[in-house]
Amino acid sequence: MNSRNLRILWSFILMFAIVGVHDVDAQRKKRKKKKGKTEQVAPKPKPKPKKKTIASLTKSSKKIEGLFTIYQDTVTGALKMLVKKDQLDKDYIYFSQIADGVTEAGHFRGSYQNSAIFQIRKYFNKIDFVAPNTNFYFDKNNAISKASEANTSEGIVASGKILMADDKKGEYLIDANGLFLSETFTRIKGPRFPGTSPFAFSLGRFDKNKSKVNEIKNYPKNTNVKTEYVYSNPGVLNGGSNAIADGRNVSIKVFHTLMHMPEDGYETRMDDPKVGYFLTQTNDMTSTGTVNYRDMIHRWRLVKKDPNAAISEPVTPITWWIENTTPMEWRETIKEGVLAWNEAFEKAGFRNAMVVKVQPDDADWDAGDVRYNVLRWTSSPNPPFGGYGPSFVNPKTGEILGADIMLEYVHFTNRVFYDRLLNDAAANMKIGLETDEELEIQKFKSKNEHMFCSMGHVMHENMMLGNTVLQATGASDLDMETLKREGMKSLIMHEVGHTLGLNHNMKASQLFSPAQLADANFIKGKALTGSVMDYAGINITNDRSKQGQYYDMAVGPYDVWAIQFGYTPFKGKAERNALLARSTEPELIFGNDADDMRSPGKAIDPRVMIGDLSNDQITYSVNRFELVNTMLKNLKGQFAKKGETYEDLRRAYYTLMGQSATAAGVVSRIIGGVYVDRSTYGQEGGTQPYTPVSLEDQKRAFNTLKKYVFAPNAFSAPKDLYNYLARQRRGYNFFGGPEDPKIHAQVLGYQTGVLAHIMHPNTLQRLNDSELYGNKYKLSSFMTDLNNAMFKPDVYGSINSFRQNLQVAYVKRLISMVTGRTAGRFIPAAQSMAAYNLKNIRTWVSNGTGNVSTKAHKAHLKTMIDNAMKEIK
Ligand SMILES: [Zn+2]
Repeated sequence: MNSRNLRILWSFILMFAIVGVHDVDAQRKKRKKKKGKTEQVAPKPKPKPKKKTIASLTKSSKKIEGLFTIYQDTVTGALKMLVKKDQLDKDYIYFSQIADGVTEAGHFRGSYQNSAIFQIRKYFNKIDFVAPNTNFYFDKNNAISKASEANTSEGIVASGKILMADDKKGEYLIDANGLFLSETFTRIKGPRFPGTSPFAFSLGRFDKNKSKVNEIKNYPKNTNVKTEYVYSNPGVLNGGSNAIADGRNVSIKVFHTLMHMPEDGYETRMDDPKVGYFLTQTNDMTSTGTVNYRDMIHRWRLVKKDPNAAISEPVTPITWWIENTTPMEWRETIKEGVLAWNEAFEKAGFRNAMVVKVQPDDADWDAGDVRYNVLRWTSSPNPPFGGYGPSFVNPKTGEILGADIMLEYVHFTNRVFYDRLLNDAAANMKIGLETDEELEIQKFKSKNEHMFCSMGHVMHENMMLGNTVLQATGASDLDMETLKREGMKSLIMHEVGHTLGLNHNMKASQLFSPAQLADANFIKGKALTGSVMDYAGINITNDRSKQGQYYDMAVGPYDVWAIQFGYTPFKGKAERNALLARSTEPELIFGNDADDMRSPGKAIDPRVMIGDLSNDQITYSVNRFELVNTMLKNLKGQFAKKGETYEDLRRAYYTLMGQSATAAGVVSRIIGGVYVDRSTYGQEGGTQPYTPVSLEDQKRAFNTLKKYVFAPNAFSAPKDLYNYLARQRRGYNFFGGPEDPKIHAQVLGYQTGVLAHIMHPNTLQRLNDSELYGNKYKLSSFMTDLNNAMFKPDVYGSINSFRQNLQVAYVKRLISMVTGRTAGRFIPAAQSMAAYNLKNIRTWVSNGTGNVSTKAHKAHLKTMIDNAMKEIK
């Protein structure tokens, strides 16, 4: 059980504690009252009290039978729950998901909370709820297992008082009112981090009076309770977006499910670091090895109908339901995306492992019902994702018990998220590094990020580029339709992959060369990447006559192999090992989110990157830069349409600039890069774990950045394009800020995005360290090259406004390396080079050449450097 599971259980138990305390309080008050009365009034002859029974206590309630029978009072709606004797001391699973939320609060339709185990135990007149600690494993045959409870906490027990017991029937009635109508059941309101603006959106206080149980559905194997939590804040400052009708009262609907444990017979499967599955991590406390991981992969229970057949249908297939809200024109493509995985399952010995059905319009079940795996379709005002494929598992075994896929309509439209574009640029422009506090907050937030998938956002950006290119080249409606269908199919394959247990493989886009990707016949019908679990760029050829397919049209070779690993009924260890030994085959390379390099300074292997495609990332990026620069030349003529506003032109401009930024990011990761190989020692085809990128490739990457990102003419769109980048007015929407296009800020955002990585303390430290084990691009050479690229081309003449901004940002970064708040995170060698470079810059900018603006700029830099030099200690 991970810490999040524990947290949920803690809340769960705490809530019972509160319920219990309430009961005890109520009882005490009652007794007190009675006692007071007897002292003042003479006792009357008492009528013989009617014996209370479970039936009499639930007389005015509706009985809803199922796994745990629930009574709901028909007048007050209050809940009671029946626990049976034979349910005591057994494991159950608790799971919750959001039925409907608001994205501002981090909760949206279909988002999963974690699942956790609980046991119900009777202690005298109380019912205890216990959360066993499942983080550790003890081999029962080892004597030390007798000490298995030492220094671990069994998710402390809390009690609910038994309201009534029927010992004959073995039934106990408990108050379940607070169980489902309490914030403590599952934590919805997130923590408020230090430094959060008081104007930021936040949920109000949990309002007990307004919150209610909306629906109870009870089945023999699970009890589902749908609740509506209301958060009130009468003096709200930030009422949130349009998605919230009244910021003072925000509703979050939560689905709670109590489930029985699945039957025995499921085969747990242990993880291997060469393949990327979601895991339930446990530690083997009786092992003496250096690593004692006993991590179970998440997989479905798939059993052959005919165990002796090489390929057999499963006893129970994985069945998907297309939600009845899904637009008709998409249903066939969605089905294709799901069934594409059957190809992988055949290699693992299963025919028709995946089945797709359509939810009837008059279905009596809700898509949130855990018994159904549903492909859901929504059009949210502020979608947090474009596709999201969560699953929940039995924490004891890793068996996947249910899954859903959420799809967002907006990602197949042309709507641009300008807010995000601007926020991204602003984040890049930050000169200093994160403070320790900010790093902690980031860590906290990213803990469960692996559960979320940004494929939809990546897909959206890809689709926008595809649309822009196709529109500019006058493609037919049929071509546009093909682009959309291919995009949808690959998105579905990706999200379904998650629900089968697979996590991302951000290294998979290395499968083909740029030449192969530009060969329409060669790629036809294939996956363009080793795995559909990558966030790859769209395949667009600069020579439009060579355009083949845009996206993966089948699951990739890695996907097939990974499914074989997770689902093949292996005859023995040898068979499993033989499969794993293939991991060194080039098309099976793997690296997940933890290894990927999307954030500046984060990871080390440049191949594990998002938004790229092909095994030559530099050529790929150069092609993208060239495509963008060519298209910018004619953009106005192609996208300004008679009688219409300029939104289309604006969208095309930002889409193309965004692509340049992505390409620049991909290239920047090669500098200081170290290739990682996770094969085991002596494995055939394997290499040493760490091999620095060759000097030649690092130099090639540097020169690409110099030309397309830093050069004085790197951003040279036709000037009159800027006159047309106008937003459409809507009411008073320009109150938020002046409407003019912020060209310089946006370009600088892209440039500083690159600097953020190549000047990151981790990158500089690695350049230095890897000199010891094969890196030929010395830290000093790289920092000299960068300094020269920033100043040499124009320091003797006039410096244009883009370059002036870039030079100021660059000098500020150098200064912050030696005197800034976070200077301590840089190695001394990098600091020395920064000081050395500043000194050189000071000499260069003292030459007094250039126009007035250049002279002012140079004087500014000189003053900045002089002031900084005084602070260097
Ligand atoms: Zn994903």
